[in-house]
Amino acid sequence: MIVGAGVNGIGTFRDLALQGVDVLLVDKGDFCSGASAASSHMLHGGLRYLENAEFRLVREALHERNRLLINAPHYARPLPTTIPIFSWLSGFLNAPLKFLNLRDKPSERGAVIIKLGLMMYDWFTRDSRVMPTHRLIGRKESLDLRPLLNPDIVCSAQYYDAWMPYPERICMELVMDTETLSPNARAINYVRLDGANGDVVTLRDELSGEHFTIKPRLVINAAGPWIDFANRAIGKPTKFIGGTKGSHILVDHPELHQATLGHEMFFENQDSRITLFFPLLDKVLIGTTDIHIDDPEQAECTEEEIDYMLDLVNHVFPKIKLDRSHIVFKFSGVRPLPSMETTTTGQISRDHSIQAVEPDAAVTFPVLALVGGKWTTFRAFAEQVTDKVLDRLKMSRKADTKAMPIGGGKDYPLAEAEQRAWVAALAAETGLAAEHVHVLFERYGTYARQVAGFMADGEDAMLQNHHAYSRREIEFLALQEKVVHLDDLILRRTLMGMLGQVTGALLVELADIIAPLLGWSESKRRVEVERAAQLLRDKHGVAPEKLRLPALPRVS
Ligand SMILES: Cc1cc2nc3c(=O)[nH]c(=O)nc-3n(C[C@H](O)[C@H](O)[C@H](O)COP(=O)(O)OP(=O)(O)OC[C@H]3O[C@@H](n4cnc5c(N)ncnc54)[C@H](O)[C@@H]3O)c2cc1C
Repeated sequence: MIVGAGVNGIGTFRDLALQGVDVLLVDKGDFCSGASAASSHMLHGGLRYLENAEFRLVREALHERNRLLINAPHYARPLPTTIPIFSWLSGFLNAPLKFLNLRDKPSERGAVIIKLGLMMYDWFTRDSRVMPTHRLIGRKESLDLRPLLNPDIVCSAQYYDAWMPYPERICMELVMDTETLSPNARAINYVRLDGANGDVVTLRDELSGEHFTIKPRLVINAAGPWIDFANRAIGKPTKFIGGTKGSHILVDHPELHQATLGHEMFFENQDSRITLFFPLLDKVLIGTTDIHIDDPEQAECTEEEIDYMLDLVNHVFPKIKLDRSHIVFKFSGVRPLPSMETTTTGQISRDHSIQAVEPDAAVTFPVLALVGGKWTTFRAFAEQVTDKVLDRLKMSRKADTKAMPIGGGKDYPLAEAEQRAWVAALAAETGLAAEHVHVLFERYGTYARQVAGFMADGEDAMLQNHHAYSRREIEFLALQEKVVHLDDLILRRTLMGMLGQVTGALLVELADIIAPLLGWSESKRRVEVERAAQLLRDKHGVAPEKLRLPALPRVS
């Protein structure tokens, strides 16, 4: 049994199910609603981790990044990255000292040390190269390219990483792939691990409040930043996690969007922390912070963090005016890092490990806790966990996930001409307009076939309060993708929430569509709309006037 349906729990769910292991995955909330929903959306090796000498992790992450570009081409996209550099030699002497653990404070990183890091980055993937290598660009050319760039730079560097527009959809598609592949795999959201006694685990249905029990052979604690809380709940207190909070904001700022030229701007802020911003579809994502926190439930993006993130853009583009009025969404989450004593949070290891809690008289099954684990490395981490579990169950590996496509990445046409032909064929098959099928293809990859098929199979119309989704598409998501609450739909099955597209009127319209499908009463529908509006207002900083609710029409 796996507790926690973040990317690491879900990755392990898929791998174990593939080996023929009966596996139940539960989450106290929705799929991918913890740390996995709070990332910077990067699929990266982690250039910064080189200065903490985490070579194993960087190498593994680069290989996993490349695999995701191949296995999930619909959701993993190459990201050209620019580093504005403000000195030539800074950090040159500090880096070897850091590798030898003789220096523990961050110091300015100059061009030479960045060049060395990028050479290593390229070298790690020399045998599996899928994107161009790095290059340094002189000051004049950098400023010619981006006239708004801070003129204090000495040069810039350009290299490639990758990003994911829809991390939550990758998780959902992994869950659906797994349940389709294996009749012995079952994933349930809104079910909490609540206790254990002897060989029995108690679970609580968070919707009905009901308790039920199961007898697992082994428990995988993939509760991310809640790992110690979950262990405590089953009477196995641990101190594995030393979480740090990170926040992001999304801004609607066409001038800033344009100034990036489609690149991630990845740079050292004035306090020596590495920060970034990049265009996330039509918005710009800015992040992040790194602050110790004990209780993940308390993580929220504070006013001070917002000031910090607005300011950091100024370091790169001093002439661009950015303020709170541009923010459309904010979010915060906790990195499930290992508990470690360090001078700064930046020095805590980003690598993952499996911590075993062995059986005793009170709890007779073993617990394996998945500590750390980047989004990028989820597949490799899941593979390592699965191998450990197979070992304990005395089973052997039957299948491998290295080259396994994810969801709509299966049979994905790569060349533009092939994509056009794919879209045209599906448009002809379903009778939908080719432009509409193109939008679905961009949104779901080849899984668009199922979505379009459903849409074509009944009367449809575009939403009144969102020009890019239709009623049937919303119905499809609600019926097929384990939607329980209205916020599952706007925050995790679609990007509507994050892109600042949700209004009070849209919430009411969506609730109106899905209420009959999910058996919601009139009062439940009202509760769902109010819950989603409150979440957007209080947790995600969406302006209250935008969320003002029109009178709710009656459910037909
Ligand atoms: C600010 C920030 C930026 C990041 N940026 C990146 C990045 O750009 N690239 C990258 O590769 N990685 C990034 N990461 C790291 C990455 O997102 C996380 O390490 C990873 O998502 C952790 O996944 P997880 O499955 O271990 O944990 P989670 O996603 O937190 O999943 C744990 C799940 O357990 C559930 N749970 C908890 N307790 C219980 C219980 N008692 N019963 C049932 N369920 C329970 C929770 O609801 C949660 O859904 C970032 C992380 C943060 C916070």
